[in-house]
Amino acid sequence: MHIHQISYKALLLFSCVLLASCSTYKYKESDKVYKKNAKDFSKLIKAMPPENQRIDSLFNEQSFVGTTNMGIRKPNFVIIHHTAQNSTDQTLKTFTLTRTGTSAHYVIGRDGKVVQMVNDYLRAQHAGAGKWGSVTDMNSCSIGIEMDNNGTTDPWTEAQINSLCAVLATLKKKYSIPTANFIGHADFAPGRKNDPKNFPWKTLAQKGFGLWYDDVMETPPENFDTTAALRIIGYNVQRLNYAIEAFKIHFVQTDITQTLTDFDKQILYNLYKKSL
Ligand SMILES: [Zn+2]
Repeated sequence: MHIHQISYKALLLFSCVLLASCSTYKYKESDKVYKKNAKDFSKLIKAMPPENQRIDSLFNEQSFVGTTNMGIRKPNFVIIHHTAQNSTDQTLKTFTLTRTGTSAHYVIGRDGKVVQMVNDYLRAQHAGAGKWGSVTDMNSCSIGIEMDNNGTTDPWTEAQINSLCAVLATLKKKYSIPTANFIGHADFAPGRKNDPKNFPWKTLAQKGFGLWYDDVMETPPENFDTTAALRIIGYNVQRLNYAIEAFKIHFVQTDITQTLTDFDKQILYNLYKKSL
């Protein structure tokens, strides 16, 4: 009788714990979708010969021989965003709804908590249309990091930046990402995006993530071509005023108008020489 009572109590406790853990986990449905998608991708990768990769016009002249030497594609850029939302929870909700069509590899909260949402080897939908250097499909070659921040008045917390730096250090090392390839969404999509705003890029650059200008700078020569310099750094100068604005969101911050002051030109010249 006594033993029976204990086991009944244990069972009750177990059910309560189980119920509690079920009710606090809100993302069971999206996890299921993730798993199904990942399974479909793995089928694509496993297929020999690969499916849907035959060149129609070659008919019988194409064959497949599996090589012994291959690897999985790696990201080569990191794009940093601000969520323009009020909490990590709100962002997780947005990124787990199919209809929003957006996602990121990592979401970093104001409290420094990091949530991964996409395998580094897979393509998240964070960058959209844009151009940096000659890269247009940035989603295919980058890791997207969303920093929880409302994008206007929110300060960046130390915990959040510390976690970001820990993530960046790991990614940089693991995938050999070049220092200059840590950029913001606005850099990639001038005129369309302005995030992240008021971002501590200098702090990041001091740790080897992204470029920053020197404390002491030369005055650029009379014939300094500012448009070419922006282009060499990576900016899409097709709509020059927006390229200037994006450059200033990243490197000037205190003034983000669409014209270059003498000081802005010094920064630009300094960075241009680092990019050659
Ligand atoms: Zn963004």
